[in-house]
Amino acid sequence: MKTSDILLGKLNTEFKTVSAMIEIYCKKNHHSEALCKECQQLMDYAEVRLDRCPYGENKPTCNTCPIHCYKPEPKEQMRLVMRFSGPRMLLNHPILAIRHLLSEKKNINPKPSPNCSNRHIRLQKGEKK
Ligand SMILES: [Zn+2]
Repeated sequence: MKTSDILLGKLNTEFKTVSAMIEIYCKKNHHSEALCKECQQLMDYAEVRLDRCPYGENKPTCNTCPIHCYKPEPKEQMRLVMRFSGPRMLLNHPILAIRHLLSEKKNINPKPSPNCSNRHIRLQKGEKK
């Protein structure tokens, strides 16, 4: 499980969830102790997508989100990761898993309010990264 240096609040929780899922997937499917290059790239990609998500901290979970922001290739990779690691999360990271399941039940705004992405807030605060 990884923590992001740039994501705030709930987005960082989501990143922890995603990174834990990628770690489970990589360990069982790619048999590497550390994360393999491909999975590391997917994790970096996920972090950028979360940073730029127009919903910001009001982001719905990715599988209920009306905006499909992933490109086809990482999207397919992520689908495999979710399918494999989803059921395993309850055992390995029960708190993250339950939080995620609960947020899937939340109602979604069809339209995000303007300027609430993590990136926007981050850049407004003057952090240049
Ligand atoms: Zn891997």
